[in-house]
Amino acid sequence: MGSLVCTQCGKTFHFDVVPRRGAICFKCHVQSVNLGFTYGRDNFHGPTIKERERNILANAERNGVEPQYVGNK
Ligand SMILES: [Zn+2]
Repeated sequence: MGSLVCTQCGKTFHFDVVPRRGAICFKCHVQSVNLGFTYGRDNFHGPTIKERERNILANAERNGVEPQYVGNK
């Protein structure tokens, strides 16, 4: 379990496993998926999962949160 501040809406959300999509809450994730379908696949050329993970950890550190991995990594 852990929590992150969503980079999209700025709200804190909780997760069981560090989300692969990045520090984005489910609500914003769904919205971005919908946008992806609407505007094509440009959004998918963003950072790799590994880079996102680095961002998550950096984010969490800034916010004084300690992300914990659960299950397979
Ligand atoms: Zn959000």
